[in-house]
Amino acid sequence: MLLFGGMRLDRLAARVGGTPFYAYDRARIAARVAQLRAALPAGVQVHYAIKANPMPAVVQCLAGLADGLDVASAGEMAVALDTGMAPQQISFAGPGKRAAELAQAVAAGVLVSVESGNQLEQLAQACERQGLPARVALRINPDFALRRAGMRMGGGAQPFGVDAQQAPALLARIGQLGLAFEGLHLFAGSQNLSASALAETQESCMTLALRLAEVAPAPLRSLNIGGGLGVPYFPGEQPLALAPLADSLQRQLGRLALAAPGARLQLELGRYLVAEAGIYVCRVLERKLSHGQVFLITDGGLHHHLAASGNFGQRVRKNYPVIIGNRMHGEREIASVVGPLCTPLDLLADQMMLARAQAGDLVVVLQSGAYGLSASPTAFLGHPLPAEVLL
Ligand SMILES: *Cc1c(COP(=O)(O)O)cnc(C)c1O
Repeated sequence: MLLFGGMRLDRLAARVGGTPFYAYDRARIAARVAQLRAALPAGVQVHYAIKANPMPAVVQCLAGLADGLDVASAGEMAVALDTGMAPQQISFAGPGKRAAELAQAVAAGVLVSVESGNQLEQLAQACERQGLPARVALRINPDFALRRAGMRMGGGAQPFGVDAQQAPALLARIGQLGLAFEGLHLFAGSQNLSASALAETQESCMTLALRLAEVAPAPLRSLNIGGGLGVPYFPGEQPLALAPLADSLQRQLGRLALAAPGARLQLELGRYLVAEAGIYVCRVLERKLSHGQVFLITDGGLHHHLAASGNFGQRVRKNYPVIIGNRMHGEREIASVVGPLCTPLDLLADQMMLARAQAGDLVVVLQSGAYGLSASPTAFLGHPLPAEVLL
C-alpha cells in the first residue's frame, strides 16, 4: 500500500470521503523549499507563483516558506492577501489586467508588473482616483528565449511584457507619471530541466536588466528574473541539477550588487515547488477487455487532470508516472487507464506496465501537485469535482 503524507492510501481515501481526489503533502513542500534554499546562494529570494497550485491551504503553506507570492489575477491576489503575507511581498503580473484589478492592486499595495503602455496609463489613473502611489515593476519581453523550455514565454513576438526595445520609453513614462518604480520582471519560459540553459538565460536576463536599469526612473530595488525550473515527468527525464544553477546565480548576484547595490534578486517558481508534492487518486470502476487489451475504467480523468491526459491531444502524449496505489507488489500487466468521459482523449495511462488491477483499486497519478485541478476543464461532461486535501 502506498503511504502518502504519513497515511496509508486506503485510509486517506476514506478520510477524504472517497475518490477521486488530489492530495498534497505539506512536509514534501517544506522539504523542497529547504533543499532549494540550501543549494542556492542566500541572497536569492524565492517567490511562489500561485498559478501552479492555487488551493488556499497550499498557498498558505507556501506563504510561510517563500519570500513572496506572485499572482496573476485579482482572484489569486485575494488568496495571497488572505494568507497574511505582506502586500510588499506580493506581485501581480498578467498580459491583461482589468481596470478593477489594477484598482484592487493599488488599494492593497501590491507590486504591479506592468506589461504594456496601456496598462501603465490605466494604473496611473487608478492611483490618481485613489490618491495612492502604485508600486510598479516593468515586465520585459526579453529579446531571447529560454532554450529547451517546455513552454516559451519570451523571445520574439509575445503578448507578455513589453519588448525590450520599447522598455526605455516606458521607463521614462513611469518617471513622468510619478509612480513608485521598484524594478524589472523577466520571465523567459517554463518546465526546463537543463541547468546550462537556465544559467544562460539568467546571464542574458541580468545583462538586459542592468542595461535597462541605467535608464530607469529610480534605482532598482528588485529584479525578478523568472524561473522555469522544471521537474521530471516522463521516462528518461532527469531531475534538474541545482549546483550549476547556484553557481550561475552567485555570478548574477555579484553583477547586481555592483551595478544596483541593494537590489533584491528574485526567482518565481510554481511547478518546481509543488509538482512532486501532489498526487491525484481515482478508483477503478471496471476492468474491461477489448480486442485483448485491458482497460481500467476509473471515476476520474481528463476533466480533473488535463495535463496527465495529454492536454486535449494537442501534443505527443506521454504517460505521467501512474501506479496502482494499493498493489505495490505482485503480478503486473500492460493496461490503459481511462476516465468516464465519452472521448478517446480521456486517458490517464496508455498501455502502461501496471500492477494487475480490479474494480475498487486505487489508481494514483504521481507528480500531480502543479497545474492539476485548476488547469483542468472540470465542467466538461458534468461529473462531480474531486476533493482536495493538504496533509
Ligand atoms: C506561469 C508563470 C510562472 C510559474 O511557472 P512554473 O513553470 O510553474 O515555475 C512564473 N512566472 C510567471 C510570470 C508565469 O507566468
